Amino acid sequence: MSDKIWLSSPHMGGNELKYIHEAFDHNWVAPLGPNVNGFEEDLEKFLNSDVQVVALSAGTAALHLALIECGVNYGDEVICQSMTFSASANPIAYQGAIPVFVDSEADTWNMCPTALKEAIRDRFANGKKPKAIIVVHLYGMPAKMDEILAVAKEFDIPVIEDAAEGLGSTYKGKACGTFGRFGVLSFNGNKIITTSGGGALVCHTKEDKDKAVFLSTQARDNAPHYQHSHIGYNYRMSNICAGIGRGQMEVLGDRIEARRGMTKFYSDIFARIDGVRVLTEPSEDFYSNHWLAAITIDEALTGVSREDLRLALLEDNIESRPLWKPMHLQPVFENSPYYGSNVAEKLFDTGLCLPSGSNLTEAEKERIRIKIEQVFDK
Ligand SMILES: *Cc1c(COP(=O)(O)O)cnc(C)c1O
Repeated sequence: MSDKIWLSSPHMGGNELKYIHEAFDHNWVAPLGPNVNGFEEDLEKFLNSDVQVVALSAGTAALHLALIECGVNYGDEVICQSMTFSASANPIAYQGAIPVFVDSEADTWNMCPTALKEAIRDRFANGKKPKAIIVVHLYGMPAKMDEILAVAKEFDIPVIEDAAEGLGSTYKGKACGTFGRFGVLSFNGNKIITTSGGGALVCHTKEDKDKAVFLSTQARDNAPHYQHSHIGYNYRMSNICAGIGRGQMEVLGDRIEARRGMTKFYSDIFARIDGVRVLTEPSEDFYSNHWLAAITIDEALTGVSREDLRLALLEDNIESRPLWKPMHLQPVFENSPYYGSNVAEKLFDTGLCLPSGSNLTEAEKERIRIKIEQVFDK
């Protein structure tokens, strides 16, 4: 059997161990220290916006804290893009709140502004104002932020940007993760850069950052003993993990180039095949890091289904994966309200993510290309 080709695997830059050694040399083996501060500064500089970043144990933790800071409590409603990874929606349930799911639009596969407006109007008619809107930059593709922010402003609802997949993506030249009241980043092992596991909350005020640091470090009041007047969490990033992050930040630019190169690689292959669409930017306003290359297949035109291609690749030990299954179709969220039509559902039925790692070799890419061409030439 040929070696496995992964969908997206960690890709070290080389200096990660240097930062970890520094942590060991000074005994900063704790969920705070110079690497945590340094990593936060690196991210602030990279986002190139007046933001304050809090490094955390996971992107999921960042989403949870964002909801808490937006005042989401038991019984509240929170609007969330349906087409996403479950981690976008789970923290709503952690708060005892109710997710209200919204469909995607066909250009970016992200939240449809029209369906968003319909959802908000209907929730208001039901007597409840949604407490927050979670919009996702799926596979690195920026959502239609102008339209989403306009609706959010009209109804005065804070936006939480799930940019877990979108570090390095921009919309109209501005970094994804810096548009909403809060932005969420992830450094899980499969993301564009990794800290083995980790995340960050992007804030716009010192108060918001201070509160996130306070909540993520067990909510200790200012006293010599352990005094608590809030429920706290153990969500801060380890100084060891942050060392990996600092090394990764040195190569983030290269990683974005390489991931974008993978989408170009598939665009070239599928340019010759009618009925396959590669997810690419709808206009110059959008710049995607192309974390994962993703396609939709028109089976009627190609005679090939999403599963045909996935299983054929698997035969040669090449990993690919269907697009995220929409949350409103997940058994765990079956009772949650949903607004829109069947855009997300159709994407799920026809869409596939293809190997997109920044560390794929020319030989591996050749193996992928040959397999894809075999399947469609049949
Ligand atoms: C990875 C991911 C998360 C969760 O991040 P973790 O760091 O794994 O907790 C949230 N949302 C989306 C869209 C993601 O892809």
